[in-house]
Amino acid sequence: RKARKKRLYDMHEESKKYFQRNLSISTGDIARRYLRNRGLTQEIIEKFCLGFSPADWHGLDNYIQSKGWTSEQGVEGGLLSKNDKGKIYDRFRGRLIFPIQDLSGKVIAFGGRIITDGEPKYLNSSDTPIYKKGDHLYGLSLARSTMTRTKRAILTEGYMDVISLHQFGYTDSCGVLGTALTSEQVKKLAGFCSRIDLIFDGDGAGRKAALKSSRMILLQGVACKVVLMPEGEDVDSLLQTKGVEGLEVCMNDAPAGLQFCMNTLRTEFAPREIIAWAKSFLAELSDNSLKAYYLPRIADGLGLAEADFRRDTGISSPAKRTLPRTEQ
Ligand code: ATP
Ligand code: MN
Ligand code: MN
Ligand code: MN
Repeated sequence: RKARKKRLYDMHEESKKYFQRNLSISTGDIARRYLRNRGLTQEIIEKFCLGFSPADWHGLDNYIQSKGWTSEQGVEGGLLSKNDKGKIYDRFRGRLIFPIQDLSGKVIAFGGRIITDGEPKYLNSSDTPIYKKGDHLYGLSLARSTMTRTKRAILTEGYMDVISLHQFGYTDSCGVLGTALTSEQVKKLAGFCSRIDLIFDGDGAGRKAALKSSRMILLQGVACKVVLMPEGEDVDSLLQTKGVEGLEVCMNDAPAGLQFCMNTLRTEFAPREIIAWAKSFLAELSDNSLKAYYLPRIADGLGLAEADFRRDTGISSPAKRTLPRTEQ
């Protein structure tokens, strides 16, 4: 078992080098031009170990074999794919490559962005014995030391968002990468910081993700702030056009997590849905002191008297409840 994991780590380290080399030679001209057009510096490209997978069906396959592994082992590592007929080929072709690292900096998976036309825009490694989607955060190994100092984590949506944030000096940033934020991810972050600032895209998907993610963070008792980008922008595009000043304006205007949830519920949900949301939120809290903290604030945020809110949700406060005299 241990030998198998070791093999997968080694295979990922070698693949990272393969992708990096392909970015640096003439094969990677098109990808380097793409990165330059998106405003990334050479320094940040190296910091994030970005690479390129040529439009080749067996480039990495051959490379893996030249290092003494089999194609089957490449499939097991999520680096190669296998079709119905059992033919094995490179999973990533013609893509910019983003190595995904674990907390200690070991490469455990890859993300790939198409740089010409094609679908899907992003492709990730499949789950493997060393990588489970939703357990990791993109860029965390690079951000953890700053997080420990600032006691803050910036959490955003995409690869390019994380990279731009770091390039512009926000080195306490990491990314969730296309999945819903999990409690494991929040727990991992909470080990380094006391506050999470969410920065999400100014589109429908971004707003939806912001509500779900802030709810998840508040459930763990961690403070957060929600920064929604202007319509049609993400933090990468904002930083590249408006710089740090542009982002600071958005950050200063951003509501606290609970405030954001209340605002969103009030403007986008029907009364019945709001009560259902609040009820399930409070029900998921196992910590009674946290419940006692949130309850009056939620009632207040929804513009309800606490007693009415308790009645609507059927929640009584364990702390304040006293037994009738006759039952004592
Ligand atoms: P870019 O700026 O390169 O166009 P983006 O990060 O702004 O990319 P979004 O569409 O906003 O792209 O998606 C946010 C993130 O969600 C991506 O960075 C990626 O991690 C993930 N994602 C998006 N589309 C897919 C997909 N088809 N498959 C897997 N993950 C995806
Ligand atoms: Mn988006
Ligand atoms: Mn983007
Ligand atoms: Mn985006």
